[in-house]
Amino acid sequence: MQYRPIGNTGLSASIIGLGVEHLDNKPYELVEEVICASLEQGINIMDVFVPGDTARSHIGKALTGNREKVILQGHIGSVDLNRQYDISRDLPTVKRYFEDILRLFGGYIDFGMMFFIDSDKDYSGVFDTGFAQYAEHLKKQGDVGHIGFSSHNPVTAARVIETGLPDLMMFSINPAFDMLPPDEYVLKHMENGLSSDLFRGVDPVRAELYRLCQQRQVGITVMKTFGAGKLLSEDHTPFAAPMTAPQCIHYALSRPAVSSVLLGCKTPGEMADAMRYYDVGDEGRDYSAALCSVRNDFRGSCVYCSHCQPCPAGIDIAAVNKYLDIARLDADRVPQAVRLHYSGLSHGGDACTGCGHCESRCPFGVAVMDNMAEASRLFG
Ligand code: SF4
Ligand code: SF4
Repeated sequence: MQYRPIGNTGLSASIIGLGVEHLDNKPYELVEEVICASLEQGINIMDVFVPGDTARSHIGKALTGNREKVILQGHIGSVDLNRQYDISRDLPTVKRYFEDILRLFGGYIDFGMMFFIDSDKDYSGVFDTGFAQYAEHLKKQGDVGHIGFSSHNPVTAARVIETGLPDLMMFSINPAFDMLPPDEYVLKHMENGLSSDLFRGVDPVRAELYRLCQQRQVGITVMKTFGAGKLLSEDHTPFAAPMTAPQCIHYALSRPAVSSVLLGCKTPGEMADAMRYYDVGDEGRDYSAALCSVRNDFRGSCVYCSHCQPCPAGIDIAAVNKYLDIARLDADRVPQAVRLHYSGLSHGGDACTGCGHCESRCPFGVAVMDNMAEASRLFG
């Protein structure tokens, strides 16, 4: 298992984590099997968004003796009034549910996630009431280590990042969602079926959100990596052919600031399947074919697919492009952390010999040689 830092929290997460949504309403024995299989694979981050007492109790019990090995995301405002998943901004209700999750997980949650901030109304419900202050209070008390939030809307999510409050964002990331214009609500498309009619290439607003996170040192954990399975399905894929799980995982992990993809494995077998990511090699992870199969109005923008590799000069072209894109957000004030990431690469843009091999392989028309020169200038 590989591990990545979560923003500037000092914590490191396994690049594959567990989302426990599908363990709701399952017998305890199965929950325990999946949790144990996850721990055996080296998974150290889990998202417990489920509000139900039984599901939370099962997970808490299955983690007995291992709680300290796991980074937990617990959601503030996730409730199940009327026995259905719901969102609440009513503080007494919010507190009751969060105190419950604290009780079940040893009195401490690593990331207190402000739940489901998708719309202006959600934003007001969090920042114009006592909700955000409650999250800050939890952190001050030491009940949560850090504050995070979850969202599916790139515009609203950027507003939340700009407040400076969160250290972590949980966001829905997959190639299909990233190709939708920002005003298209991804969950509506999940219900209605994903179609490529609206795709215009990886959307700049979403791409900029991930760069903003990296610039502000806010980590990202990923949900909906497979678009509820639709991207893997022959019948439901919006691309010319279904993607594979390693391709979807790699796409998400290639976005700036992403620490971990949280997969909703229902069985130990599904967990083992997810680990195929490590066996397939670069070719098996290459997601460029799916992106090439649909309309792309943003040719010239790097999608970090690495299809242009290998570079004879040994440059990790996608990584240089990624740090360059982040630096371009504010070229006069490139964050030190981004400079450090860049300088940690074995070869920077200055190593480019101008052989042109990459540009002939790039399906997205990226001016790689210009980028290498610009990166060398900016980070030099
Ligand atoms: S042009 Fe530069 S970056 Fe591209 S393959 Fe050649 S040396 Fe590598
Ligand atoms: S330059 Fe082209 S091929 Fe290389 S990572 Fe970027 S988009 Fe992919």
